Amino acid sequence: MKYALVNGTRQEAQPKLRGACPNCEREAVAKCGQQRIWHWSHLGKLECDHWWEPETEWHRSWKALFPEEWQEVVHVADDGERHIADVKTGAGLVVELQHSPIAPEERFSRESFYKSMAWIVDGTRYKRDLTAFREAVAHGSIINDNPLYINPLTSGAGIFRRWAPLQCAVFVDFGNEEFSIAGFALPKAVLWLFQLDRTTGRVVVGAVTRESFVQFCLTGSELQRLVVTRAQQPRVRYQLPQGRRYPLRRRF
Ligand SMILES: [Zn+2]
Repeated sequence: MKYALVNGTRQEAQPKLRGACPNCEREAVAKCGQQRIWHWSHLGKLECDHWWEPETEWHRSWKALFPEEWQEVVHVADDGERHIADVKTGAGLVVELQHSPIAPEERFSRESFYKSMAWIVDGTRYKRDLTAFREAVAHGSIINDNPLYINPLTSGAGIFRRWAPLQCAVFVDFGNEEFSIAGFALPKAVLWLFQLDRTTGRVVVGAVTRESFVQFCLTGSELQRLVVTRAQQPRVRYQLPQGRRYPLRRRF
């Protein structure tokens, strides 16, 4: 955890600090070593939230884009079940940052628990995912120009199987890796939006700017979708789809 309660106030880990877990209120110890980023851990290592995964720099850099009070928000369901959401926006959208793959059952449980949520997936977790994804979009077919949707060539690749959307939106983050589609290069810093084509059951992919995703969370402004212009020279650009608004809940 990035935060624990120290004398009732949320605080980041500092050497020798003791505090309490905001979720279960048991004692938490600041872990400030060389190997991992500084974090809080339960005394005795018994995590109270079995959905929690060890944090990486990737988690922290995403969280840091949002106000402190939106980070690590304890969410309590009507039946008393409690979990810590990675990010919960002012509009109530939970953003779960997922570095490691998880079973479909757990994904389904989390989506059902939070209801209004989106996944940001660390696409760099496995090298083979990046290679497979790059190939799949480079040789995939463009099925829609505005906004861009690609039918990836090999939608059976692991990353598509693991992150085929269930109920909530899935955005895959490959950092600043570069991609091309049909021979032309894409701008950097996109998040790949995985969507399910309900008629074929296959994953189709679109792209939004990372910046617009953050702004969408911060201000409710619209997502900037990647658009292809194929008239003469193929070009790519971002454009807000005409007349379409992206609701804050569930669907993107
Ligand atoms: Zn706890």
